[in-house]
Amino acid sequence: MQSVTVRAPAKVNLQLSVGPAAADGFHELATVFHAVSLFDDVVATAAEDITVSLENPDPTVPLDGDNLAARAAHALAAHTGTDAGVHLRLVKRIPVAAGMAGGSADAAAALVACDALWGTGLSRDELSELGAELGSDVPFALMGGTAIGTGRGTLLWVFAVAEDGLSTPAVYRECDRLRERSGVPVPDLATDEALMAALRAGDAKAVGAALSNDLQEAAISLQPALAQTLGAAVELGALGAVVSGSGPTVAFLVRSSEAGLDVAVGLTAMGLCRDVKRAGSPAPGAKVVTVARV
Ligand code: ATP
Repeated sequence: MQSVTVRAPAKVNLQLSVGPAAADGFHELATVFHAVSLFDDVVATAAEDITVSLENPDPTVPLDGDNLAARAAHALAAHTGTDAGVHLRLVKRIPVAAGMAGGSADAAAALVACDALWGTGLSRDELSELGAELGSDVPFALMGGTAIGTGRGTLLWVFAVAEDGLSTPAVYRECDRLRERSGVPVPDLATDEALMAALRAGDAKAVGAALSNDLQEAAISLQPALAQTLGAAVELGALGAVVSGSGPTVAFLVRSSEAGLDVAVGLTAMGLCRDVKRAGSPAPGAKVVTVARV
């Protein structure tokens, strides 16, 4: 019997522009994804059925068929017609419900792991199509890197993980409510040229200045303490700070690993977050790290 371990990255949105809500409640987005080296591992072992366990139990992560890793395994089995099963052990390091796409990373890792374990031999494109049906961030978690434009150079990050989670739909609803209240028209969606140029040039300072997220105000409205966390960026010497996705994690871009340590120590001392994580980017997408006979 074999076991396959696949590692998949978290993401930060370097830009997240939100268009109007469509009839189905979903919003059009213009965004730049960037994979960072905070990884979940999925260890896949042959089994009768499709089951999931967590290395560190977490009551907010489902262990039944709702788990995104289990949904990925079921989707691959249905697509390929295999009747093989799998046990998926999740080693989660990406904060849960934090706007860093941890569930999508697990789904991407489960697709790659099951494809290797079952020998179903799908191409990356086919896995990506299956992944897109599970969640819009899954194809990106398969690919890694930077979703738009080709960046160069390494960026260093510190993530302030807030005490309580935020619900993604609630943050979008709050974004719509604030926009309606202020009467400011919804902006046209386009990726930011300054951000693209900064990424192409590998200019961390310019990337820091260009970070943006239309959901930030809504996240702050629902969790006012985030304003203090973001406000600490300048004082702590970060190049920029932005709420990651729908939050409540705040991502700080830093110029060096020493500067990252200063930011991490400062954030911890200020008591503004539950946890502080450090990472580099862009990180690779979901890939097999070990295949073992068990
Ligand atoms: P996104 O930024 O993609 O909107 P997120 O990063 O904020 O999502 P996730 O960590 O992916 O949030 O989890 C969101 C919810 O999905 C969790 O609260 C949990 O109930 C559910 N979930 C299902 N499968 C998983 C999984 N494998 N890991 C984490 N959460 C999962």
